[in-house]
Amino acid sequence: MKQIVVIGGGAAGLMAAVIAGREGARVILLEKMNMVGKKMGITGKGRCNITNSADISDFIKNTPGNGKFLYGAYERFSNVDLLALLHEWGLKTKVERGGRVFPESDSALEVRNLFMKMLKKYNVTVHLNEAVTKIVTKDNVVTGVVTTKESYACEAVIIATGGASYPLTGSTGDGYRLAEGVGHSITDIRPSLVPIVTEESWVKDIMGLSLRNVEVSIVSKEKVQAKMFGEMMFTHFGVTGPTILSLSHTVGKLLRKKKTAPIAVSINLKPALTAEVLDKRLQKDFDLYSKKQLANGMKDLLPSNLIPIIISLAKLDPAKPINQITKEERQQLCHVLQHMTLTVKGLRPVEEAIVTAGGISLKEFNPKTMESKLVKGLYGAGEVLDIDAFTGGYNLQAAFSTGYVAAMHIVHGEV
Ligand SMILES: Cc1cc2nc3c(=O)[nH]c(=O)nc-3n(C[C@H](O)[C@H](O)[C@H](O)COP(=O)(O)OP(=O)(O)OC[C@H]3O[C@@H](n4cnc5c(N)ncnc54)[C@H](O)[C@@H]3O)c2cc1C
Repeated sequence: MKQIVVIGGGAAGLMAAVIAGREGARVILLEKMNMVGKKMGITGKGRCNITNSADISDFIKNTPGNGKFLYGAYERFSNVDLLALLHEWGLKTKVERGGRVFPESDSALEVRNLFMKMLKKYNVTVHLNEAVTKIVTKDNVVTGVVTTKESYACEAVIIATGGASYPLTGSTGDGYRLAEGVGHSITDIRPSLVPIVTEESWVKDIMGLSLRNVEVSIVSKEKVQAKMFGEMMFTHFGVTGPTILSLSHTVGKLLRKKKTAPIAVSINLKPALTAEVLDKRLQKDFDLYSKKQLANGMKDLLPSNLIPIIISLAKLDPAKPINQITKEERQQLCHVLQHMTLTVKGLRPVEEAIVTAGGISLKEFNPKTMESKLVKGLYGAGEVLDIDAFTGGYNLQAAFSTGYVAAMHIVHGEV
């Protein structure tokens, strides 16, 4: 029986420990928090977007941070395999918009509890409140780990310590230091899926305002670098919400360029309409409210707290009677409605990001087995690796699949 140590009881570590246990290994799972799956419990706003119903090729497309590395893992353990396993254990799931898969109960805790049941069933020894501080090797072969409490000898170690985001869940970047300690290199650690900070302070005036069905573009050097349709929200520092979080990856990339050109977030509030149709629509409203002031004539078109901002961005007088608005002024309004622009100041820090981009360098790992090319018996799984995906269940699937592959390879040597 092989003795395995899994470091970290998140999605990747839980899957790895359960599979290694199921396949007959002796497994110790070391978790530094007082429970396993703390982050899993808050995923998908407490509903846990477990995976996506998309094809593997779409998983890769939705993983801008080194998606191709995951082909091998997805071929061995795909979303279909993950759901089959969870269904076998009694979890009922449902598919929502965009192929997002959730537990039917809408409870992330149900998923976490299920893994706890599996740990028990497969006799995994779980040590809580115990952080690994060092991986021990001899002649580039793993021999054990040292923790805050004890030392353990083992034949294989899986680093599944997560990234550096939401540190209160236990993901504090320990895995980077542990891997560095045995000779691995760490790429630039940065936030992904993170809110954007803007120069404009008026965002404060409309914080909490959420917009649906808008098209958000990231513009730099007069070129649209990326765009997305969906929801966004204003906050006291800038913007957030699903479209913004996904676009933050592009913003991060642009910000890292040596000569950063100004970056703008351009919001099309009426993406379904052409400029001409929008102008006609505005004319119709202005005919209806012709005797009112401009600020009172746009309530059919926009949420009320957005109106003064749009008027100000169009450099118009909110008190001007609508019947005195010129064609040029109306067109100016139309332009702002389809190009509401904010200037990017930066991203919120990695601690506030949904995922961490960067991590243990993938060049030093075998994508078919998740084993280190530098240290025999050392494996990496989940967000600690230099992998990051968009929202939609892609990050959890990456963690589950890499955890599965590492465990199978340790026990069976499968490639
Ligand atoms: C708010 C939020 C919502 C999210 N929602 C979704 C979603 O719905 N769908 C989705 O696909 N993704 C979601 N994600 C991303 C997803 O949660 C992560 O990508 C995923 O949890 C990564 O799993 P992991 O096992 O690699 O790391 P983690 O889940 O971070 O687990 C790492 C574990 O290692 C432990 N650990 C760390 N250092 C040590 C050490 N030295 N010794 C022992 N233990 C240690 C930590 O305490 C932790 O329990 C969300 C993330 C956040 C922050």
